[in-house]
Amino acid sequence: MPQHHFKTEVSRLLDLIVHSLYSHKEVFLRELVSNASDAIDKLRYLSVSDEAYKSVAFEPSIRVIIDKGDKTIVVEDNGIGMDEKELEDNLGTIARSGTRRFLDKLPDDAKKDSNLIGQFGVGFYSAFMVADKVEVTSRKAGGEAAFTWTSDGKGEYSIEASTRVGQGTEVRVHLNAEGQEYLGRWSVESVLKKYSNHIAYPIVLVSEEPKYGEKGEKDGVERKEETVNSASALWRRPKSDIKDEDYLDFYKSFTGAGLSDFGSASEEEAPLHWIHTKAEGTIEYITLFYIPSKAPFDLYRADYRPGVKLYVKRVFITDDEKELLPVYLRFVRGVIDSEDLPLNVSREILQQNRVMASIRQASVKKILGDLAELAKTNVDKYAKFIGEFNRPLKEGLYSDYANREALLGLVRWKSTADISAPGGWTSLAEYKSRMKEGQKAIYYIAGGDEDRLRKSPLLEMYRKRGIEVLVCAEEIDEIVLSGLGPFEGVELKSVNRAGSESELGEDGAKNESKPEAGSPAAAAIEKAKKALGEAVKDVRISKRLDESPACVVVDSDDPSLQLRELMKQLGGNEMPEVKPILELNGEHSLVKRLAAADEAEAEDLAKVLLGQALLVEGAKLADPADFAIRLTRLLK
Ligand code: ADP
Repeated sequence: MPQHHFKTEVSRLLDLIVHSLYSHKEVFLRELVSNASDAIDKLRYLSVSDEAYKSVAFEPSIRVIIDKGDKTIVVEDNGIGMDEKELEDNLGTIARSGTRRFLDKLPDDAKKDSNLIGQFGVGFYSAFMVADKVEVTSRKAGGEAAFTWTSDGKGEYSIEASTRVGQGTEVRVHLNAEGQEYLGRWSVESVLKKYSNHIAYPIVLVSEEPKYGEKGEKDGVERKEETVNSASALWRRPKSDIKDEDYLDFYKSFTGAGLSDFGSASEEEAPLHWIHTKAEGTIEYITLFYIPSKAPFDLYRADYRPGVKLYVKRVFITDDEKELLPVYLRFVRGVIDSEDLPLNVSREILQQNRVMASIRQASVKKILGDLAELAKTNVDKYAKFIGEFNRPLKEGLYSDYANREALLGLVRWKSTADISAPGGWTSLAEYKSRMKEGQKAIYYIAGGDEDRLRKSPLLEMYRKRGIEVLVCAEEIDEIVLSGLGPFEGVELKSVNRAGSESELGEDGAKNESKPEAGSPAAAAIEKAKKALGEAVKDVRISKRLDESPACVVVDSDDPSLQLRELMKQLGGNEMPEVKPILELNGEHSLVKRLAAADEAEAEDLAKVLLGQALLVEGAKLADPADFAIRLTRLLK
């Protein structure tokens, strides 16, 4: 039998495969099945487009046959097949440009063992990871002759005349020691399901399995022949053919939701919304995204599992790639199926790939656009969405600058205004449209739970003057809002800060921040400053208080007390100590009492006023016992 030598590049590749790919050896099945599917695609195309093939009748199928006796696994298709020359050209050289480029990227043997190699699939040759010998018998559709290509993957191959009944190709893999697990039906079935479930053609798995008698005793063997893939890729069907039920069923099978219970998906399990897109043009791909109705429990954990699966031409590539969508959209589940990516795409390549980058960019635009539409057309659904996913979207405000405007339209806050929308959620744009004539800023209160924020004395004067304040109770709010900059030309101001109250006192006002020398207000300030010393940055008369005697704010450039607490909890760098500014309500009887008090009573009063103002803001007192003693003394 004449022996041929592989082109040098193939020899090198084979060497790399055998020595570096063991941890990924199961992909050989994915590659062979994908080749079989391509071969059927080609024949199907020719049978409708080429007169010469019109007479070829065939029922497309891929058979995977396990032969335990022979220690072989066969992947067989009835597709286009190869003639003698094609066997030589396709399997004796590297036809595939992706593989060639891969080799070009490896300048020396030093990279042999690198992880990079392990992440490549390398088509047909990957069979040598699990084989001592591979035989490919093929008959070209329309031809009479069949040939068998044989190689042990060590540098040589032979081609000889052979026989084969139908058109198509049979790849017989003689399993080596590492490949023995692929004699097990369960093992093969799970690999086929994992990678090839959505291949368009049925994959029939054939094996001989032990038969058991009535008493459980072995009773010979039986041939088991079963289609193991779903052979449908819902996302590839035209939208007009897909019913809502189909989308729901697919979601269930996809997420595993509802597997444990009977009957239809409960409301919680059904997705809130889905977005099915087919892009045609320079880059072709299909995406089907689902927005779940509940946030997964691990959404805020560093090790969350991304929910988007990448396919290339229906072949599963990965579901462990956190970069398919930006991190803030990690709650989205679904499928990206590309026509233009190579099957052997690695993680490193994905991250730099131009095709992937544009799919990602367009997908983000599409998802955000659809959510904006949902906000307009279905306010109830949108409120549910916000209830679950407001916070991750807000992360996008500081991580995805390009889509900031779109995101600003989507995120929501609570408010002191009477909001009729479901959930009481409002947007910055809606706030702006409600602003009072001449109002200079968008006001917000942040840091702490909603209930406490709503009761804060800092809101008293805003309420009295009918100025709306956004109630921002999510931990992330303070960071997001302070970094936001003006919204459509309007400054955002935190009511916890000095300077944010400037417009509250405008109409004459009972509270004057700079009281006249000798007035009771001036006396109260002086006594409080003396009593409190280094504990405060300043003492002032407040414009924002109506009923409460005192409140604390932070200076315009200082981090808020709550933000400091948050950073501490997150274990970040300790922020410098922030001293609060104590603001007093000049009209309050306790403040008037302070103005008239002797030194001892003034100290008690000032310290109790500061202490209770801090408590209301959720801060911890440095010396609670001291506070209690002074309060008791005053009450006596
Ligand atoms: P790729 O499939 O990425 O091109 P492979 O190394 O897997 O690279 O295969 C090389 C070539 O061999 C294919 O491009 C195809 O032309 C041919 N080939 C492989 N398997 C089959 C098959 N089952 N039927 C017909 N042709 C095949």
